[in-house]
Amino acid sequence: MTQETSGFAAFDLNPNILAAVIATGYEEPSAIQQQSIPIILAGHDMIGQAQTGTGKTAAFALPILNRIDPAKREPQALILAPTRELALQVATAFETYAKQMPSVNVVAVYGGAPMGPQLKAIRNGAQIVVATPGRLCDHLRRDEKVLATVNHLVLDEADEMLKLGFMDDLEVIFKALPATRQTVLFSATLPQSIRAIAERHLRDPQHVKIQTKTQTVTAIEQAHLLVHADQKTSAVLSLLEVEDFDALIMFVRTKQATLDLASALEAKGYKAAALNGDIAQNQRERVIDSLKDGRLDIVVATDVAARGLDVPRITHVFNVDMPYDPESYVHRIGRTGRAGREGRALLLVTPRERRMLQVIERVTGQKVAEVRLPDAQAVLDARIKKLTNSLAPLVADAESTHGDLLDRLTADIGCSPRALAAALLRKATNGQALTLAAIERERPLVPNSTPRERSGDRPERGDRERRAPAPLAEGRARCRTALGARDGIAAKNLLGAILNEGGLAREAIGRIQVRDSFSLVELPEEGLEKLLAKLKDTRVAGKQLKLRRYRED
Ligand code: AMP
Repeated sequence: MTQETSGFAAFDLNPNILAAVIATGYEEPSAIQQQSIPIILAGHDMIGQAQTGTGKTAAFALPILNRIDPAKREPQALILAPTRELALQVATAFETYAKQMPSVNVVAVYGGAPMGPQLKAIRNGAQIVVATPGRLCDHLRRDEKVLATVNHLVLDEADEMLKLGFMDDLEVIFKALPATRQTVLFSATLPQSIRAIAERHLRDPQHVKIQTKTQTVTAIEQAHLLVHADQKTSAVLSLLEVEDFDALIMFVRTKQATLDLASALEAKGYKAAALNGDIAQNQRERVIDSLKDGRLDIVVATDVAARGLDVPRITHVFNVDMPYDPESYVHRIGRTGRAGREGRALLLVTPRERRMLQVIERVTGQKVAEVRLPDAQAVLDARIKKLTNSLAPLVADAESTHGDLLDRLTADIGCSPRALAAALLRKATNGQALTLAAIERERPLVPNSTPRERSGDRPERGDRERRAPAPLAEGRARCRTALGARDGIAAKNLLGAILNEGGLAREAIGRIQVRDSFSLVELPEEGLEKLLAKLKDTRVAGKQLKLRRYRED
């Protein structure tokens, strides 16, 4: 795709940024990008309501990169993210989009890593600072001027930041930034606490929200599968084993992904092809014709390339990459279930995209059931069924055409018909695994573990910032104190103080979570106000406890 044909060319972006975006393989701006980029480019404050998976990172990263002055070697844009994981992801996205701007430097600042190198990178002139609030406040305590030159601030996943108790830290950061800065706030939800922040700290913000109309999808059976991003291809291959499909379309986000997945499928013997915006129109038409008449069974497409595609043979849609919004999801799965037939739609969801799944369920008014990867037994059953189906029609007249040959071969070889049939099967199945043990050996995936259960997804030890509060038991209220590990507090100090001063029994106190800059304590809902009044003057480690009810919205 050339710069002229990309939907991104319509924005007034620096050619280096545009070239980097096109090199990434994006074909068209997502809805949130379409609306946000011009507003941020024009220097307005903005509130964007969008969750992960909508393309929100590029929605702010591209215009912010455009607005900084690469020649100035000082921090100019600050992006705040709730977790270290997201901060790293955002920093990587900035680096990708700034690939052709060699003088732009990005630094990620988060807890659990030494402070010295982070501060050095900031002082050495990184223009973009991506930080978690807790750690950034630690830096501010050492050098309150460190953010004095920042004139663009982005709060990413603002609701998550508040849930993790970063409200006080945010206030400290706002104070450390020039009042004339541009401020952009992204949040999946806009509870009162977020609106209050916007009122106090944003100037005349423009609102951007992806409109979600309720959509109906009938005759399409929908399911989702939780999977890590790097296991999508093997998950797709496993699913194909057991899904009884005629023709299938798979949606991915980039043209590179169409090529990679189509060639992985071809390597496994599927009749598959890629369809993306780089492919000339007449070639695209050939691909679609092939899908119509059965020369192809699977097409791996981007949304742009699949526009208007109408092939009645399509029984299945695989959303290998999440769509940007529910409308696009509905649009994609509408490629199946054509002409009153039944269709099946499968959605692959990575751990960070679960929220998008909920949005899709809400907008479509339908539950998208969870499925697991097929286990070895299911794969074996499906393979044997396919073999049975392919051989059964041949049995009827094969004896009349090849019976004599069979007699001759068994006599020549000196074997039983069973031995010969087995040899022919081995030849016909071409080394395919057809026993449980053989299938288990060829499958690296653990079928019944979801990403949630695998250790890779667990919060790292020692990284206090990224853990969300645990679900609350009934009859309990969560309370918060601004005292945390950095004040020398341990759970036992809090427990001791509350037991002594509050006169509670040990069982009355639930989980105590100590984070770097605050702590959460679960207390009985009944009589809570009285208890908090009792603890009003309590001190722990020489500091006032100031325990308050913690609101999670
Ligand atoms: P985000 O919502 O920012 O977490 O983005 C989700 C994913 O979409 C990331 O992997 C991005 O690289 C990708 N992405 C963002 N914008 C586009 C686009 N216009 N076209 C294709 N992929 C995109």
